[in-house]
Amino acid sequence: KQEQYRKLKDEPAVTQDGVGVSLQMNAGLIMDLPRLEESGAAGIGLFRTELQFMISSAFPKQSEQQAFYAQVIEAAGDKPVIFRSLDVGGDKVLPYLRSQKEENPAMGWRAIRLGLDRPALLRTQLRSLLRASVGRELRLMFPMVTEVSEFERAKAILTREQAHLERHGHGVPTRVMLGAMLEVPALLWQLDELLSAVDFLSVGSNDLMQFMMASDRGNTRLAGRYDPLSPAFLRALRKVADKAKAYGKPVSVCGEISGKPLEAMALLGIGYRSLSMASAAIGPVKSMIRAMELAPLEARLKELVDQGSSASDVRTELRAWAAAHNIPV
Ligand code: PEP
Ligand code: MG
Repeated sequence: KQEQYRKLKDEPAVTQDGVGVSLQMNAGLIMDLPRLEESGAAGIGLFRTELQFMISSAFPKQSEQQAFYAQVIEAAGDKPVIFRSLDVGGDKVLPYLRSQKEENPAMGWRAIRLGLDRPALLRTQLRSLLRASVGRELRLMFPMVTEVSEFERAKAILTREQAHLERHGHGVPTRVMLGAMLEVPALLWQLDELLSAVDFLSVGSNDLMQFMMASDRGNTRLAGRYDPLSPAFLRALRKVADKAKAYGKPVSVCGEISGKPLEAMALLGIGYRSLSMASAAIGPVKSMIRAMELAPLEARLKELVDQGSSASDVRTELRAWAAAHNIPV
């Protein structure tokens, strides 16, 4: 199997009926970078910048952040990288960041909330990203956006920082593409405003699932109870894909479900054409894509999702569909 995946590395992720899919990888550490080449990923769809902060014993200095991002960009070469601004809080603890004890840290002072309340911290990171991207495109997204105004405020901080750099004679990126992660359910009812504001969207299905199902993503007692293949979740994801398409804005999924062939197959069936996953998942997902025909899958998913079958039915039906069509999932 591994050998077979290695051979697929330079083959395109295209379905039998000719539909191309962009497969990117998630990363966060320098040691992840060689995987970009080895896996044949089209780019880094999610770079978790908090990892550098989590392995440090104090806030990384601006120069250290910049050097780190420059190293990532350098290693990626021509392949695009989507950086995510600091997503600490919740389960991602920084020992040197003093914060109050929270009853529900996953729903607490984390991610962009922390960034907006401690703008110096966010500004330092944005400055580091801007300076590391001089002369090329910077792609950046903000985590845990709950209201569109938060995206706007973060964007304003970035714009100010960029103007500041220019005023002081520093180089800046050729272009900045700004996105939001969609991982808080409230955004599902702000899609028009959101899609008008952003350059792209990335669905954080791990958190979106946890909040939609009111189930701690790390709680093993709940792990088998709710299924991302439930019609409720797939309807929400489909709505996002449809809306993004209507607005002409790129959308991808960067949670764990992207890296599971059966779940990834369902995502393609409801309209996604861009997925970001652990590098080791690219081979298996690509072989699924290359074996399948999209048009009949879309029709099957429409039936399953619209008729509101139970989650386990969707899973069983999709497995059967894959088996009948010789698709490895
Ligand atoms: C997610 O929530 O799906 C996601 C990709 O971000 P993280 O797992 O880092 O919270
Ligand atoms: Mg998340």
